[in-house]
Amino acid sequence: MDEMTPLHRARALLDSLTPLKTDCGRLCGGACCAGDEQTGMLLFPGEERFYDGCDFGRIVPANFSLGGRPALLFVCRGRCERANRPLACRLFPLFLAFGKDGTPRLRMDPRSADVCPLYGSGIAGLSSAFVDAANEAYGLLLDDEACAAYLRDLHRACSL
Ligand code: SF4
Ligand code: SF4
Repeated sequence: MDEMTPLHRARALLDSLTPLKTDCGRLCGGACCAGDEQTGMLLFPGEERFYDGCDFGRIVPANFSLGGRPALLFVCRGRCERANRPLACRLFPLFLAFGKDGTPRLRMDPRSADVCPLYGSGIAGLSSAFVDAANEAYGLLLDDEACAAYLRDLHRACSL
């Protein structure tokens, strides 16, 4: 059996939890899943191994690096096997920011502002079980060198 890496464990924490207790996709028609062939979700370092032979999406290289590695995007068809959705989909619309002293802090993903109707009500409007699981997942990811470098660089890139 594969070793349970921080990435495995972070994904597992958010297997069944969603931003609201009810299906938030009903509010917006699943807006965050309505990308096109050019739109994808960033994969965490090492997450590509979950998508070998995947039949609901494909991996494409992004034209930039994060955390010192070439970034990879997962481009889906707008539907997926929920149990196998990427971690970025599981965490959306949350984001990990870092203060000037490097302290991590959970916040709403700035990239969700134009897409997600939950953005305006902020973290307080989300299910507390979801927020707690995301916090725990980010804690695990920060213990992994490659994932921590990725998260810090992602914050930097989204703050430019
Ligand atoms: S855009 Fe926001 S409200 Fe809509 S499905 Fe995605 S997370 Fe839920
Ligand atoms: S992989 Fe699934 S959850 Fe993620 S954007 Fe595609 S359909 Fe939505």
